[in-house]
Amino acid sequence: MADEDLKMIEPLFELLKSNGKKYDFEKIKSAFLYADEMHKGQKRLSGDPYITHPIAVAESVAGLGLDTDSICAAFLHDTVEDCPDKTDLDKIRELFGDEVALLVDGVTKIKSINIEDKEEEHIENIRKMLLAMSKDIRVIFIKLCDRMHNMRTLYVKKDEKRRATALETMHIYAPLAHRLGMQKVKQELENYALMYLDPIGYNEIKQHIDEKYGKNVNFIENLKTDISEKLKQTNINFTLEGRVKTVYSIYRKMYNQNKSFDEIYDFYALRIIVDTEYECYTVLGMIHEMYKSVPGRFKDYISTPKPNMYQSLHTTVIGKDGIPFEVQIRTKEMHQVAEYGVAAHWKYKSGEKAGADIDKRLEWISKLIDTENDAMDPDDFIHAFKIDIFHDETFVFTPKGDVIALPFGATLIDFAYSIHTGVGNKMVGAKINGRIAPIDSVPKNGDIVEVLTSNSSKGPSRDWLNIVKTGEARNKIRQWFKKEKRQENIIVGKAEVEKEFARFRSSCNDDERNEIVTAVAKRFGMNEADDLYNALGYGGITLSKVESKLRDEHDRMFKEKEMAAPVQIEPTVSTVRKHRSTGGVIVDGEDGCTVKFAKCCNPLPGEDIIGFITKGYGISVHRADCPNIRNAYANEENANRIVKVEWDTPTSGTYKSSYDSAIQIIVSSRISLLAEISGALADMRVDIVSINTKKVEDTTVINMTISCRDIDHFNSILTRIRGIKDVIRVTRVTGASK
Ligand code: MN
Repeated sequence: MADEDLKMIEPLFELLKSNGKKYDFEKIKSAFLYADEMHKGQKRLSGDPYITHPIAVAESVAGLGLDTDSICAAFLHDTVEDCPDKTDLDKIRELFGDEVALLVDGVTKIKSINIEDKEEEHIENIRKMLLAMSKDIRVIFIKLCDRMHNMRTLYVKKDEKRRATALETMHIYAPLAHRLGMQKVKQELENYALMYLDPIGYNEIKQHIDEKYGKNVNFIENLKTDISEKLKQTNINFTLEGRVKTVYSIYRKMYNQNKSFDEIYDFYALRIIVDTEYECYTVLGMIHEMYKSVPGRFKDYISTPKPNMYQSLHTTVIGKDGIPFEVQIRTKEMHQVAEYGVAAHWKYKSGEKAGADIDKRLEWISKLIDTENDAMDPDDFIHAFKIDIFHDETFVFTPKGDVIALPFGATLIDFAYSIHTGVGNKMVGAKINGRIAPIDSVPKNGDIVEVLTSNSSKGPSRDWLNIVKTGEARNKIRQWFKKEKRQENIIVGKAEVEKEFARFRSSCNDDERNEIVTAVAKRFGMNEADDLYNALGYGGITLSKVESKLRDEHDRMFKEKEMAAPVQIEPTVSTVRKHRSTGGVIVDGEDGCTVKFAKCCNPLPGEDIIGFITKGYGISVHRADCPNIRNAYANEENANRIVKVEWDTPTSGTYKSSYDSAIQIIVSSRISLLAEISGALADMRVDIVSINTKKVEDTTVINMTISCRDIDHFNSILTRIRGIKDVIRVTRVTGASK
């Protein structure tokens, strides 16, 4: 009998053999046989033999890449309490050792945490779970696998039981998986939980997906073919995965952002996994070249990882037939972390014990248990637990007890607008936990916030724009000003522009000013100066966006009159010897210097340059007309640190193959424009070092660092970009910072 049952674990053994790690197969086999014996004759509600459950859990545990002891514990996890002849831990310890016994004990102790339980029981159970986790994180991995299988087979349970289990999964286990960065587990748990919590909503979306997907069965397959053909032309190793978003992720988007199914942009998603971070950006460039990108959808989680360490590049582009799809690009390592989170350590690293990086990511567990020791109020404990799981958000309560999630650092004004636009616009004050609080206060997790409104309120104040943290609140406030206060906006905006003119020390008269502002307004696609004042007034455009253009137009008008005579830089350093240096630059008078190119002005071969001897970092090379170097030169103290430098002859061989240069491109927002620009750059074999885009009204501002050979090359690039339709303006960026 038992030997025959061994067939049941053949798939598991196949899996283990295929993943290339070392396992104690005999030990695993005997753990299975022991569990098989203990659960003999026992059936699950579905009618299946009970042993099918521990087998499924063991398979998931193995899928996470956990070790022999974890797999054994998975087989044994229900033998201590859930079988007729309960075994005890001592027996397990005797047969399988301390570690397995510890894991089984941990999993056994995690009792169901019923959300509707009495508070004390609830807390006690969460506390036990955390304690077990803090002893050995593998306990929670096994528990999550156990939960996953229970969710897969939840349909056999009675209605109330389903609901309770689904609630617990949604509120405790899915967030926990998320907190541990275990994306795959989290998604599966959420999907099943949703299926039981909102069957109608779930099925509606599922049906939509099936319909939409049914219409475009080949869509993802064709994309994969197109993209892999393109990628094969490079020497980049890659893996392509196509997928449709999960029901839950679509549900959440529709619900949170109040969108209809058809408004969900990234229904289809494609994932490209490559070897290096550099290749991620290369591939991104290729994708943008192949497809039109949707503005504002590019996210770089590589340079700015999410709090749970997730890293990836995201962009949304438009495929054939106008169907948008999301592309995620990441390295193998980032992918492992994304899919398995903390568990990736066991799956992909050989060590069995957690390293320092893992410890750090689990610190919050022990912190939580620590604070709990000081006789914490039960309510506080629950709050602390929930808060720590969602640490990048602040959860506050309405007086009615509804929970509102705000991004970390959001103020009471943000809170008001998140409830309703009308509440925000009529806000005259607020209370935190029953006490009047300034409306710019930042509520803490668990605070009860009440917004005081008045119908005689004159509407939001302009200062609020500088206070609020969420885009939602900012937009709503701007909308209000845009609609209600055009005349006032114009006055405010005009005053700001006046201040700017004052800084120019310009003597131009009202007509000339009006002409300048009108020209700037046109550059933003507006009709007249008042439109620009209005936009400045309600905050649709910031002054910083307008400054440089005002200056441009102003200088254009008064070029001869007001342009300061160029500073003649004649270094006093005697030019005795010439010293070849790195980067194609010859330095006078200083030997063996390291040369670096100043980021503020990014000089290019062919331009007049000047060197500045920095304290300890060699010579920084600036453009001769860089404001920073002029300032430095004006300061007597620095005068002897200026050094004459010049470009070497191009044939000298000391040149770098390319030099970075920062440019800003303003375009009217059109979906394919970014792709056209990057396409033009690719044609000219110009690499994009970095790129970010920002939408301002109807225009998009693209800040880009490109690498080019010299000033002539650079100018030809600019000319080419200026020739693209709907490109409003291309400028070289010279930052003010050193
Ligand atoms: Mn179980």
